[in-house]
Amino acid sequence: MKILNNQEIENLRPEILIALRLFDYFCSAEGYLLQVTWTTGGKHGKRSLHPKRRAFDALPLAKAGAYIIAACRQILGPDYDIVEEKGHIHVEWDPK
Ligand SMILES: [Zn+2]
Repeated sequence: MKILNNQEIENLRPEILIALRLFDYFCSAEGYLLQVTWTTGGKHGKRSLHPKRRAFDALPLAKAGAYIIAACRQILGPDYDIVEEKGHIHVEWDPK
């Protein structure tokens, strides 16, 4: 895993940290380097969960990205949102 923009990952809530580790595991298994762009830093929307330590962003993954996202969605379940946005993947812990 590569952390960009001097972001902290250890200050994330444990619920999202485990999602980050899961993503990293699948990326490694598929031969990708997970590149985290933002955790609590960066510019996000008003109601963003980033400042609440419950989200992270990563650079898009190439070919195996769809498989990795599908696997993480299935394992993490409905309390997590994994959104493919323009230029990045956003993952947040957001229990309904
Ligand atoms: Zn985000």
